[in-house]
Amino acid sequence: EGVWRISKLGVSVHEDPGKDFLGVSEALLKEIAKVLEFPVASMLPPEAFNVVRKSFDARKFQKEAKFVYTVDMDAHKLLTLEPRTEEFITELEPKHGHLEILHNDTISGDLTSMIHGNRNIDEDASLGEDVNKFSTTTKKPKVVVVGSGPSGLFASLVLAEVGADVTLVERGQAVEQRGRDIGALVVRRMLQLESNFCFGEGGAGTWSDGKLVTRIGRNNSSVLTVLKTLVQFGAPNSILVDGKPHLGTDRLIPLLRNFRQYLQELGVTIRFGTRVDDLLVKGEHVVGVKISDSKGNIESSCQKLEYDAVVLAVGHSARDTYQMLLSHNVDVSRKDFAVGLRIEHPQELINNIQYSELSSEVQRGRGKVPVADYQVAQYVNGKYKDTLSNLEPISHGCYSFCMCPGGQVVLTSTDPTELCVNGMSFSKRSSRWANAAIVVTVSSKDLEALNFHGPLAGVQFQRALEQKAAMMGGGNFVVPVQTVTDFLDNKLSVTSIPPSSYRLGVKAANLHELFPIHITEALQRAISIFDKELPGFVSESGLLHGVETRTSSPIQITRRNDTWESTSHKGLYPVGEGAGYAGGIVSAAVDGMHAGFSVAQQLGLYDSTI
Ligand code: FAD
Repeated sequence: EGVWRISKLGVSVHEDPGKDFLGVSEALLKEIAKVLEFPVASMLPPEAFNVVRKSFDARKFQKEAKFVYTVDMDAHKLLTLEPRTEEFITELEPKHGHLEILHNDTISGDLTSMIHGNRNIDEDASLGEDVNKFSTTTKKPKVVVVGSGPSGLFASLVLAEVGADVTLVERGQAVEQRGRDIGALVVRRMLQLESNFCFGEGGAGTWSDGKLVTRIGRNNSSVLTVLKTLVQFGAPNSILVDGKPHLGTDRLIPLLRNFRQYLQELGVTIRFGTRVDDLLVKGEHVVGVKISDSKGNIESSCQKLEYDAVVLAVGHSARDTYQMLLSHNVDVSRKDFAVGLRIEHPQELINNIQYSELSSEVQRGRGKVPVADYQVAQYVNGKYKDTLSNLEPISHGCYSFCMCPGGQVVLTSTDPTELCVNGMSFSKRSSRWANAAIVVTVSSKDLEALNFHGPLAGVQFQRALEQKAAMMGGGNFVVPVQTVTDFLDNKLSVTSIPPSSYRLGVKAANLHELFPIHITEALQRAISIFDKELPGFVSESGLLHGVETRTSSPIQITRRNDTWESTSHKGLYPVGEGAGYAGGIVSAAVDGMHAGFSVAQQLGLYDSTI
């Protein structure tokens, strides 16, 4: 009886039907039979098994590349369908790392089912009757959520589901208009200051690779809840199973439309093209916001809006909002972040490095094995040669970040005098290029040594690098580039610059001029070491693009552990990446979800957190 989880079932690439098949193949049944010590694999009914995780493992030290599965076995179903398995099943013992009894608490549902019991999201046209279940007040508390990135969307969803009167304010545009604005940027070099790769519906991750991997762990129940909620809004079921799930921009856009529609059905007022310019503060209490349309016109009729709670989910690029917080003495502290360059290689080269002869199976995302990615990290010693008189060796982490297989390099500037880049892809990951950030950590101590002071020192440093990159590119969003070999040799790439996926043009420049020396040296050393792990990484076809600065927020808007309110101001709830509590789509969504429950609890709408 019960459900058993069977892990680490390896099926060779040749026997497996391929990356898109998520069912139970004959080859997988053979592996299951081995773990169960059941002699005849073909007698095992596939219906009794459910694939819960499938990853591709092509690490070099193993004999052959394989798909690695985790499978849940319904013992009752198995015994009903094939009674001859009884003597094997009844005597099953947990085996470390391979076989365990699954407890119910490891299974979680989507957010709506979780809040309202196990009802299907489609049945939830009217949630009015459920609201009273949680509510201890008669008047609906009013909450404004600032920012419609993953954290703001999930905070809004929770709050609307438990019965708050939610207004979601977003400075950027809805995905339809945002798509046109991004098109105008990529084709006609017209940067809309408020509707671009960072600002707009869905936040910074909409025109992205949509990677849903997170360091908080795939089996964390909050992560599962977020993923299941994304499935409710149209993400494919495979994200629940795939070891490295990703959506791609083409899947994110319709998903966000469904999310928006559902929020509106719940009664959420969504105001695109509306920016929060100021907080309404009484004593140490935030009681509302001051808004303008994103062109800076203050709307006379609704200039100041009062709310019972303000959820601040503004992301890492809301530099004006950070400045505004300081003007109210909101507690803001510096946080470590990272800066560097975006490296791009031909995807075929990365496939060859990672898969050798198997690379023919990739077929630009349509083949049996996934388009190859990589992840590298290294600690390297450096010195502050340029600013400190005492030269102490200091260790810096240097690592690859936000790798986009089959993707393209995109412009993430929010100001025409600044230039920074990132990467995106579509669901098939079928472009000819592979890009990733290669970044070096920047600590508070680094910033002091570089003469950047105050809570927004990190923002000033980011901005200085971005302005330099813009100048080195010569303007018009042209990106300064250098081949990785020339970067290691500290010389300009004059003869031949390999093609780049970046659409607004590239210009040869010596990227050493961009950074303080210790960052350049850390990048040089780490890249040379990465080449040992990924032979061919340092090649003339590897092109470095400047500059990658917005990897995460350089600040933390500190909050209390118990109420999630700002440590300085009641009624203000800083969440997500911009507040320094998340890094990536899923962790931001998880943070927004938890914040939603916390706010609901403070407002008497919900009586326990998840
Ligand atoms: P954001 O998503 O940044 O959302 C903040 C929102 O607030 C924005 O829409 C902004 O317009 C709005 N806003 C800001 N200030 C105001 C204001 N004053 N008034 C009103 N609205 C305001 N992460 C991954 O996990 N996987 C990936 O593949 C991935 N790829 C990425 C690719 C790109 C090109 C970029 C830029 C980022 C990528 N990221 C990725 C990072 C990911 O997008 C962020 O970690 C995530 O979006 C953070 O969510 P958030 O809700 O905290 O903030």
